[in-house]
Amino acid sequence: MLHIDEQFIVDNFDDALANGAIRAYYQPVIRTLTEKICSVEALARWQDPVMGLLSPFLFINVLEKYRLIHKLDLYILENICITYNEMKENGLPLHPFSINLSRLDFDEIDMLKAISDILRKYNVPSKAIHIEITESVMLDNTAYFRRIFDSFHDAGFAIFMDDFGSGYSSLNVLKDYSFDVLKIDMRFLSDIGSRSKKILASVVNMAKAIGIHTLAEGVETKEQKTFLRNIGCEMLQGYYYAKPMDGALYVEYLSETGFQVEDPDEHHYWNEVGQINFLSPDPLNENDYTEAENGDYGFVRENSAPLALIEQSDHHVEMLYRNQAYETNLQKLGFASSKEMIKAINETEAAYYPNMDEQVKSSIITGNVVKEDHFLNGIYFTYFTKCIAQTDSKVMLAASIQTYGSDVDMSTNEMFDTYSRALIDTFDHITIMDPERNRVTARVYSKQGYSPDYSNMPLIESINRFAADEVAEEERLAFLDFIDPPTLRDRMAKISSRYLQGTFRVKCADGTFKPKVIRITKLYLDLDVKGSRELFMLTMQSISDSGN
Ligand code: C2E
Ligand code: MG
Ligand code: MG
Repeated sequence: MLHIDEQFIVDNFDDALANGAIRAYYQPVIRTLTEKICSVEALARWQDPVMGLLSPFLFINVLEKYRLIHKLDLYILENICITYNEMKENGLPLHPFSINLSRLDFDEIDMLKAISDILRKYNVPSKAIHIEITESVMLDNTAYFRRIFDSFHDAGFAIFMDDFGSGYSSLNVLKDYSFDVLKIDMRFLSDIGSRSKKILASVVNMAKAIGIHTLAEGVETKEQKTFLRNIGCEMLQGYYYAKPMDGALYVEYLSETGFQVEDPDEHHYWNEVGQINFLSPDPLNENDYTEAENGDYGFVRENSAPLALIEQSDHHVEMLYRNQAYETNLQKLGFASSKEMIKAINETEAAYYPNMDEQVKSSIITGNVVKEDHFLNGIYFTYFTKCIAQTDSKVMLAASIQTYGSDVDMSTNEMFDTYSRALIDTFDHITIMDPERNRVTARVYSKQGYSPDYSNMPLIESINRFAADEVAEEERLAFLDFIDPPTLRDRMAKISSRYLQGTFRVKCADGTFKPKVIRITKLYLDLDVKGSRELFMLTMQSISDSGN
C-alpha cells in the first residue's frame, strides 16, 4: 500500500492548493424515480506529480490533525463556485452541490461566515450548496452543534447526515438534530442479503416517518438499485451510475451521457413526492403520525398496500412507480399490465375515463384522499387518489386500487344482481341511443309502459314519435331541442360535461303527465366494434317519491 507520511502532506498542502493539484471531483446523485441528476457531491482529490492521485483517506486525517482541514473545505467550496458559474455561463442546467465538512472546521473558524463570504464573492445562492456532515461530528456537544445547524438552516443550506449507520449513536443523532437528508452508505452492509434488505427498508421507513429524505450512496449494482427503488429510497449515488470525475470531465459527462439534470424549480415537487412511504400499509393516509397509536408504524410489511405514483401533465400521463400489489389489481381489471393501461390512456381521447378524470380533479382541489367506486370490464373497484405534489405544469398522484372480484366477499354476479335491482328501482326508463347510426341501440328496460316500437325505428323518427305521443304539448319543442341527437356531443363538450339534464312532463302508465328528470349521459363502452363508442344513455327518473 502506498505510504504517504504526514510530513509530506503538511509540507506540500499549501502548494498543492495554490497550483491546483488539489481539486474537487464530482459524483452525481440520481433521483431514483426519474433517474435524473438532482445534485452532485464534491470530493477532494490530490493529484501529486510523483505520488499520483491521492484519495481523501490519505490526507483528510492529517489535515484534521494539523488543523488545516477548514482550508481544504473552503477551497473545495471555491472550486464548486467556479464550476457552478462555468455551468451557468455555458447554459447548462444548474443543480445543487454537496460539500463535506469536518467537525474540526467548526472549531477553527466561523464556518457559516466563511462559507457565506465565498458564496457572496461568487454570487452563488446558499440553496445551491448542501452541507454533508458525518454523524461522528455530533457525538458530543449536542447543544453547540444544534445551534450551528440551526444557523446553517436559517441561512438556507440543506444539511445531509453522511455515512448514516457507520457510527454507534445514529439514533441519538437523529433524535437530537434536524437533518434534511439521510445518506445511507451501502458499503456498511457487507452484502445485500435479506437481513440487510430488512434493515435498509426499516431505515427508509423510519426516515419517512420523521420527514427526512433518503439517499443511498455506494450503490454499485443493478440489484441494489432495484431494491432501493422498491422500498422508496429517493436518491442514489454510486459507481453504478458514475464514479467521481474531475470538473472538466463532469461537464463533458453532463453534455454527453443520457442523464438529464432535474429542473431546480422542481426540487420541492420531488421532495414532496419523496415523502410517500412505499412500505406503509396505508400510504395515502400516512401523514398524521401523531394518530398512529396502534404501534403499527415502522414495520416493514411483507404485503404493502397497492400503490402507484402517477404523474399527470397537460396531455400526458406517466406511471413512475407501482408495486406488485397494484399491478396485480390492475390485471384483475383486465389490463395486461400497468404499462398497457397508461398507453391506452395516453393514446385515447383525453376523457376516456371521465369518472377517473373527475376523481383526479377533486384530489387536486381538496388535497385529500378521494375514494370512489368504479366499474370497468365487469369488475367493481374502489380507486383511491391523493395529490401529493404539484408544480404549475404537473401533478403527482398517489393511487391505490381495491378490487372486488369473485375472490372477495361478493361474487360479481351477486353484485350485479343487487345493484341492477337498485338501478331499476331508481330509474323509470333506460334507453341507449346511437346518433351516428341513427339507431336505438337498446331499450334496457321501461317501467313507463312505452311501446317497444320506439326501439324498432330509426332514432330520429323514434324521437319525433315519442315527443308527439308522450311529451306534454307545451314542452314538446323544448324537449326536441334538448334531445337533438346530432348535436349532443358538441353541447356536452361546450359545458365540459358528460351529460345533459332537463325536466319534462311525460305521459305515465296511467295516461297522466308527470315531470321527470331526463338525463342523457355519454357512455364509454369498449365494445371492440368500430365506431360503436359514442353512445348515449337516456334515463328517466321520477321527481317525487310517489313513483310513476
Ligand atoms: P463520503 O463523503 O461518504 O464520500 C463517499 C465516498 O465513497 C467517496 O470516497 C466516493 O468516492 C466513494 N464512493 C462513491 N460511490 C462509491 C461506490 O459505488 N463504491 C465505492 N466503493 N465507493 C464509492 P472518497 O472520495 O475517497 O472520500 C472518502 C471520504 O473522505 C468521504 O466520504 C468524506 O467523508 C471525506 N472527504 C472527501 N472529500 C472531502 C472534503 O473535501 N472535505 C472533507 N472534510 N472530507 C472529505
Ligand atoms: Mg459525503
Ligand atoms: Mg458517505
